[in-house]
Amino acid sequence: MATSLETQHPIKALGWAAKDSSGVLAPLKFSRRATGEHDVQFRVLYCGICHSDLHLAKNEWGGTIYPLIPGHEIVGEVTEIGSKVKKVKIGDKVGVGCLVGSCRQCEECANNQESYCPKQIISINSRYYDGTVTYGGFSNLMVADEYFILRWPDNLPLNCAPLLCAGITTYSPLKRFGLDKPGVNVGVVGLGGIGHLTVKFAKTFGSRVTVISTSANKKKEAIETFGADEFLVSHDQEQMQAAAGTLDGIIDTASANHSLLPLINLLKPHGKLILIGAPQKLEVPVFPLLQGGKCIVGTACGGLKETQDMLEFAAEHKILPDVEVIPIDYVNKAMERLEKGDVEYRFVIDVGNSLKAE
Ligand code: NAP
Ligand code: ZN
Ligand code: ZN
Repeated sequence: MATSLETQHPIKALGWAAKDSSGVLAPLKFSRRATGEHDVQFRVLYCGICHSDLHLAKNEWGGTIYPLIPGHEIVGEVTEIGSKVKKVKIGDKVGVGCLVGSCRQCEECANNQESYCPKQIISINSRYYDGTVTYGGFSNLMVADEYFILRWPDNLPLNCAPLLCAGITTYSPLKRFGLDKPGVNVGVVGLGGIGHLTVKFAKTFGSRVTVISTSANKKKEAIETFGADEFLVSHDQEQMQAAAGTLDGIIDTASANHSLLPLINLLKPHGKLILIGAPQKLEVPVFPLLQGGKCIVGTACGGLKETQDMLEFAAEHKILPDVEVIPIDYVNKAMERLEKGDVEYRFVIDVGNSLKAE
C-alpha cells in the first residue's frame, strides 16, 4: 500500500532515507509538490554528503524527523519551471544549498542574510509552509522556490556541489569577519570537508593560513596541495604553545567535542574564534576571553546572494572541493567512513547516474 509520503504531493520521487537513529539509509518512495508559479523543479545530478547529514541521520542533535532524506549540497538540471520564474529556464544547471525558505521580510532577509532569518526553512528536516517535511538531495527530483535556486556557473564542474554548504559556510564568515585579506592570519580547525575549502578560500584571499588538526598525517597535503602556511597538531602542546597569540581569527570546523582553551590561546588579543562545527555542546572558558578581549561567535551557512557570489568566485579562481564521487548504493559505507574521518575531503553522490526511479 502506498504510504502518505508517496501520495501527499502529486509528483512521484525516489530517495534514500534514514528511518531511525541507526542512521542506516535505504530507498524510499515519496513525493514532491507540483511546480508552483515561482517554483523550479530539477533532476538531481550530484549531492554532497555534509557532516550535518550524518549528525541528523543519527539524531545527534535530537529532533530528527524520520524518515530523513539527507542532502543539502544539491546540483541538478532544470526540468520544469513555474509561469512566473525568471531566474532560470529548462535545461539550466542549478543548485540548492541549506535553505528552501525564509520570510523575505525581516531584517536578516532584507540584508541578504537569510540563513539567520528566524523563519528560515532548511532543505532537510524542516517543515515547509504547508506543514510537510523538507526532503533533501539524496533523491532523484527536487523542487524549490526560484529565490532559493542558485545559478550554476558554466565553468564549474557539477560535482562541486559541496560548495553549496561547505563552501558558503566558510566563505561567509571569512568575509564577514575580515579574514579575507592579505596579511591576516587565519586558523582552520579540522581539515575535513569545510576545513579544506577554508584553506583554499583563505589562500585565494591572500591570508596566511594555519591548519590545526588532530591528524598529523594530513600535514603534507595541507601544506603541499592546499597551500597552508603552517600546520599544528592540536595535541602537541609544544607546537601549540609556540604559536600562541599569532592568529587574528580561527574557523573551527571540528565536528566533535573538543577543548576551546588551546584555540583561544592561539588568538591575538581581540581575535575571534568562529564556530562552524556543530558538536552538540562545547565548554566555554571565560577568563581567557575576558583577558584577551577575544570573542567566540557562531555562524550558519550564508545568504542567497553571497552564495551566488561565492559560486562565481570559486569558478573564477578554480576553488574546487576535493571529492570522492560515489554511486548512491555506496552511501551507507560513505557515512561510516565520514564518521571515521576517512574521506578526502568530501563524498559526492552521483545521483544522476545511480538513482533511477523505475
Ligand atoms: P568533516 O568533513 O567530517 O570534517 C570535520 C573535521 O573535524 C575532521 O576532518 C577532523 O579534522 C575534525 N575532527 C573530528 N573529530 C574531532 C575531534 N574530536 N576533535 C577535534 N577535531 C575533530 O565535517 P564537515 O562536513 O566539514 O562539517 C564539520 C562540522 O561543521 C560538522 O559538525 C557539521 O555539522 C558542521 N556544519 C556546520 C554548518 C554551519 O552552518 N555552521 C554547515 C555545515 C556543517 P582533523 O582530522 O584535521 O582533526
Ligand atoms: Zn552542510
Ligand atoms: Zn526573514
